[in-house]
Amino acid sequence: MSSIKAPRSPKRRAQTRERIPKIGFVSLGCPKALVDSERILTTLRAEGYEVAPTYEKADLVVVNTCGFIDAAVDESLQTIGEALERNGKVIVTGCLGARPQRILERHPRVLKVTGPQSYAEVISAVHEHLPPRHDPFLDLVPPQGVRLTPRHYAYLKISEGCNNKCSFCIIPALRGGLASRRIDEVLREAERLSAAGVRELLVISQDTSAYGADIRYAPAAWRGEEYRTRFIDLARGLGTLGIWIRLHYVYPYPHVDEVIPLMAQRRVLPYLDIPFQHGSPSVLKRMRRPAHSEDVLRRIAAWRERCPDLTLRSTFIVGFPGETESEFEELLDWLDEAQLDRVGCFKYSPVEGAAANALHGHVPPEVQEDRYARLMERAAAISAQRLARRIGTRMRVLVDAVGEGGAVARSEADAPEIDGTVRIAAAEGLRPGDWAEVEILSSDIYDLHARLDAAVATSPTPR
Ligand code: SF4
Repeated sequence: MSSIKAPRSPKRRAQTRERIPKIGFVSLGCPKALVDSERILTTLRAEGYEVAPTYEKADLVVVNTCGFIDAAVDESLQTIGEALERNGKVIVTGCLGARPQRILERHPRVLKVTGPQSYAEVISAVHEHLPPRHDPFLDLVPPQGVRLTPRHYAYLKISEGCNNKCSFCIIPALRGGLASRRIDEVLREAERLSAAGVRELLVISQDTSAYGADIRYAPAAWRGEEYRTRFIDLARGLGTLGIWIRLHYVYPYPHVDEVIPLMAQRRVLPYLDIPFQHGSPSVLKRMRRPAHSEDVLRRIAAWRERCPDLTLRSTFIVGFPGETESEFEELLDWLDEAQLDRVGCFKYSPVEGAAANALHGHVPPEVQEDRYARLMERAAAISAQRLARRIGTRMRVLVDAVGEGGAVARSEADAPEIDGTVRIAAAEGLRPGDWAEVEILSSDIYDLHARLDAAVATSPTPR
């Protein structure tokens, strides 16, 4: 026998909302940590918890920390202190959580510390300190889960951990070895996100080019076709969705060449985010970087020949232990030849537990500062020159935000948060998440300025 539930009165609804347990959530660090946060929040929302917008409105706060470099550790510790002061009930998770003594020494009042990817532990700690209250009217979660990014783009995490041993990094110690998600699971998630209105997927991991190596490139079926759990099949599968697919954290191994034709056909965006970190072979060797012996400049030239619109983004570390002036100049020369479109730079700082700490020749801070400024100046000049070539061209952009001064959008060449933007002064009728056709009028160091031609409804790539 079936029964129909009577609608609840406004008073009952108000009472129910009163007792909904509310979680405050702070997510620090990289997009990988953001995806972990989304998973935890999705589970909590499915269990009937609500997300509170402020510390004061929450019954309990979860802080997802970053422990990558010392500055990130400081930020994490400060945030935990702030959450304790303004709320009082705090659970800590994430990379810094792998070193609980570091947290507990400074903040002994935290309720629980868990490490990275400890979803189940975080959830059970929340249950212990703030039990869930079941309400079938409020426990509904959208099928694509809870996302912390705007509706029109989403991060797609394909694996956890890393098998590399870069000497400045402790992520493998914190997060463990490479653990890839099977390709059918990843493609199904991508399909759900696309169906929910996501127009751009950003593929992330610690090493996207190594995807599937740990599970021997396991085969699986999706939409009636066989795919293997490997980089090129992932690009091929995602390329059928008809939305923007952006690949991050790819290393320049020979098999990456195979994705370039898919980029030339716009199945995936002609964009590669490759953290090169340096241009001097001797420094790269001391860093123990993956693919450090590859002839990267030759490879970049070959990629550009096959796909002239390819955008290359990278990050670099200056002042790595033992870096001499001539090794640094080698890096500058390398940049001149590589002509990267987007460049980020860090000054080396030691991380507790990293092998590089034991290297000789730590570079004084004032030398690091000087090299940082010189590298950024060189990169800015290259960026400005490359952007100026776009003046007069037409392109399709994705609108991120619309305000009084117009719209902020991104082209194929711009990843959210880290790259430049396309600014549209008169953006009548545009909304965040819209595609638009624009004509580029001018450029500066990192951004383009455009005139709106038309808002467009269709997807940018063939399905
Ligand atoms: S590739 Fe290197 S820097 Fe990146 S997570 Fe792995 S060990 Fe760390």
